[in-house]
Amino acid sequence: MPRLYVVRPFDPWRRGSLCTCPFKYTVNPYTGCGHRCLYCYASSYIRDFFHPRPKERLLERVARDLAHIPPGSIINVSSSSDPYTPPEDRLMLTRRLLGLLSKRHVVEVVTKSSLVARDVDILSKARSVVSITVTTMDKGLARRLEPGAPPPQERIRAMSVLSGSGVPVVLRLDPILPGLTDDRRSIREVLEAASLAGARHVVSSIYKVKPDNLARIIREFPDLESKYRRLYFEEGERIHGYRYAPRDYRLRTLRIVREEAHRLGLTFATCREGLVFLHDEGVNCDGTHLAIGGRVKPGSPHR
Ligand code: SF4
Repeated sequence: MPRLYVVRPFDPWRRGSLCTCPFKYTVNPYTGCGHRCLYCYASSYIRDFFHPRPKERLLERVARDLAHIPPGSIINVSSSSDPYTPPEDRLMLTRRLLGLLSKRHVVEVVTKSSLVARDVDILSKARSVVSITVTTMDKGLARRLEPGAPPPQERIRAMSVLSGSGVPVVLRLDPILPGLTDDRRSIREVLEAASLAGARHVVSSIYKVKPDNLARIIREFPDLESKYRRLYFEEGERIHGYRYAPRDYRLRTLRIVREEAHRLGLTFATCREGLVFLHDEGVNCDGTHLAIGGRVKPGSPHR
């Protein structure tokens, strides 16, 4: 394959990872993200992460890469930073990127911002799916967990706008944080709001520890320190550079999400949990089946 500059195969470290996504490409219009989520994973490997900056000459480089990417490929926007991070309202870089990608490709947007609803005109004409992350409906808790992101109620409104225009919507209940958002009531509130707003699929996972995200969580929630040390370092396990909570805890909690999803008629999958047997038949974990009309085997192209 010729060298690709900014539109790259998703998850190059998938070998040996727990990713169950179909083969897809990914492009990040920004480096870094201003949502400043305490649990963010990307901040551990990108310098100065919480100061987002647009990629230089992005559209020119994307156009060059697209010449080598088969039409109809799934392209994720984006995986290492939010495509609707704060400067996007002024710069409209993601909007222009979507215009370019959506001509010949399937677009999967993943965001925590209600700003995505601004681009409903492009997304509703494209083969697209939009995943919106909501971790809690508690506005105060969300402000502490995701201080730079719009409140959950605004994200839910964005789901309504998109689904009302025919854009398939996925809820990312991701991550679930032990002791903060893992009780059935909290899970149910998020799923019910998303379902009413037209979401059709839920993908979920349990928070995984990296040293920097754990430090931020403990600084904000000092009472959680001993619980998290026990759960992640004494009882949990290390997988591909992350500390995971114990499998029985993850299984128990994700089964609650699955039950609540099914009660509401939503399909369900997990993300990098090694619990594929919980996934519903006929779905891609990331919800891209909603944009392409069916499931693709993990790692396979869909064409
Ligand atoms: S929105 Fe995503 S990329 Fe941005 S800070 Fe939060 S977790 Fe990190």
